[in-house]
Amino acid sequence: MSSIKEYFSEAGKGLKSLVTGMAVTGKEFVTPKVTECYPENRATLKIADRFRAELTLKYDSEGHHKCIACGICQMNCPNGTIQLTTKMVDLPDGKKKRKLDKYMYDLGSCTFCMLCVTTCPQDALEFTNDFEQAVFTRGSLIKQLNYRPEPADSTPAAAPKPAMDPEKLAKIKAEALAKAAKIKAEKEAAAKAAASSTAPEASKDETNEK
Ligand code: SF4
Ligand code: SF4
Repeated sequence: MSSIKEYFSEAGKGLKSLVTGMAVTGKEFVTPKVTECYPENRATLKIADRFRAELTLKYDSEGHHKCIACGICQMNCPNGTIQLTTKMVDLPDGKKKRKLDKYMYDLGSCTFCMLCVTTCPQDALEFTNDFEQAVFTRGSLIKQLNYRPEPADSTPAAAPKPAMDPEKLAKIKAEALAKAAKIKAEKEAAAKAAASSTAPEASKDETNEK
């Protein structure tokens, strides 16, 4: 008798367990999904803005970046990840200016510490959240950040100086020539005076010797 009672008790427990499991399964059927099906969902995938994937220069709508090639980011990077080269360029106003030539960044050695971004005085750098950076060689991880063609410098060209009035120029020339002739005449007069003052003394010395 006790074995029949035990049998139905265990059957009841199994049935209860089955109902509990089916309740959990049924609940998950109607709960919204929290997992992502990557890469099938690549088009709709949303990565958090704060995710640091790759260093980049900020560009404005005209294709200008704000880097002035000061080298502070390179000095502050603990891994030697940034290598800058600079060049001197001629400006339209005739002056020379040091500009960024190549901004090389090695993603393979970057630890995403953000020191370069936070210490840049120009706010020229940022991190993108583009996480798909898989490549086949380490060399492919070295990137030139100033990859866009340099827009023309917007510094306005200096206005050409107006030509001098020919009459005024001739007058200045004549004055300069007259001044030079006067100085020359004064010098010759002074030289003659010096020669005449030393001549009697020389003849006196000759007489004494005799
Ligand atoms: S990115 Fe900023 S810190 Fe680095 S060289 Fe350019 S201006 Fe200087
Ligand atoms: S995030 Fe850090 S390691 Fe990466 S380039 Fe900037 S300073 Fe260097």
